[in-house]
Amino acid sequence: MTEPALSLQQIASCVAGYDPSALPVAQAQDFIARLVPVVQAVEMKPIRDALGRVLAQDIVSPIDVPAHDNSAMDGYALRGSELRADGPTRLRVVGSGLAGQNFEGAVPAGACVRIMTGAVMPAGLDTVVPQEFTQQDGDAVLVPPGLLLTGDNRRLAGEDLALGEVALAAGRVLRPADLGLLASLGRAEVPLRRRLRVAFFSTGDELRSIGEALDAGCVYDSNRYTLWGMLQRLGVEAIDLGVVRDEPAALRETFTQAAACADAVITSGGVSVGEADHTKRIMAELGEVLFWKIAMRPGRPMAIGRIGMAPHQAILFGLPGNPVAVMVTFYAFVRDALLRMAGASPAPLPLLRAACTTPLRKKPGRTEFQRGIVSRAADGVWQVAITGSQGSGILRSMSQANGMVLLHHAQGNVAAGEPVDVLPFDGLV
Ligand code: AMP
Ligand code: MG
Repeated sequence: MTEPALSLQQIASCVAGYDPSALPVAQAQDFIARLVPVVQAVEMKPIRDALGRVLAQDIVSPIDVPAHDNSAMDGYALRGSELRADGPTRLRVVGSGLAGQNFEGAVPAGACVRIMTGAVMPAGLDTVVPQEFTQQDGDAVLVPPGLLLTGDNRRLAGEDLALGEVALAAGRVLRPADLGLLASLGRAEVPLRRRLRVAFFSTGDELRSIGEALDAGCVYDSNRYTLWGMLQRLGVEAIDLGVVRDEPAALRETFTQAAACADAVITSGGVSVGEADHTKRIMAELGEVLFWKIAMRPGRPMAIGRIGMAPHQAILFGLPGNPVAVMVTFYAFVRDALLRMAGASPAPLPLLRAACTTPLRKKPGRTEFQRGIVSRAADGVWQVAITGSQGSGILRSMSQANGMVLLHHAQGNVAAGEPVDVLPFDGLV
């Protein structure tokens, strides 16, 4: 990792209107974007291992793709200039070109070459008439008038990618089409940023792990599972450090271990204002950490900073404990931050505009994330219905939802039928 350049106080002074006790979501995002360093290590990997990974350098095309002008159709290659406007053009067929088996040699005037899709255009020919439009006439074909313009059904050399052009830019998270594109350049391996390592654990004495008895007043730890799922989708290396008891020694040991093995550490629980437990104290003791109250719902409390001693330092995201708040704060802050750390250039997530089926109460001055079910109404317009109870502990509302209604900072009440922004879960990584 690059050495952190600025202290948290210095970063805070760069964020306009910074107020840790009522921090707007946009300001928190701005702060975090300034805080996180980018992994520097680069490794070469075969392209099939590169899916979902972050490209470390621009990939410049070493060739024209396609390398030659070729046919986009099965048909006959001809000279556009020979086509008659007043009646069918009769062209003698002098040979054939298949994909991978070129027609060599010259084509005399008044002649054409039978050609298959992908076959190299014979020298001097510039146009392809699809087979279905032609009529056989002995050793010739007839091409009807008014059908073709010169250059039709011909793919030009370099039209996909020209030699020397940037095919894929550094910072790209590689998708299936990109793997194909790399293969079309003949690339076997690509330079990738090393995978980001993210350690995570849950804190709270009331938490039990799967397989343990659920003692009175206890709940099963679900946050480690939702976090694991969200981290998997991001393609980072997720390191599960379990549930940590609310004991200074255990917390100290786990934070230190996490900072030593990971680039980022995500905890859940123990960061709210009224917390009696030791989590906040140990965070502050082991690192440079700020405790925020964010102007949002759910997910108000959050700890952010650096934990551990250089060079074993990691970025800390201390998320609230409530299961819905964990997911909302992850999508609002952690996802983009981890992508940045991984070397990616995250684009804003696409939002859907949907008519809200019911009125919503909303106070200006905070961002709200409500769970919703988006569907297409009979008239084809997107609509969204809020899922039952919106309590921040109700994970079922998140599970039922297929998107989150995003009620912006300055926004007030929403009337029934009014359009709102929705973040669809499908395709969210
Ligand atoms: P906290 O932020 O620690 O005050 O926790 C807020 C609420 O979330 C409490 O009801 C906790 O029991 C619950 N909670 C905290 N961590 C977890 C977890 N890992 N899994 C499920 N619930 C949790
Ligand atoms: Mg707690």
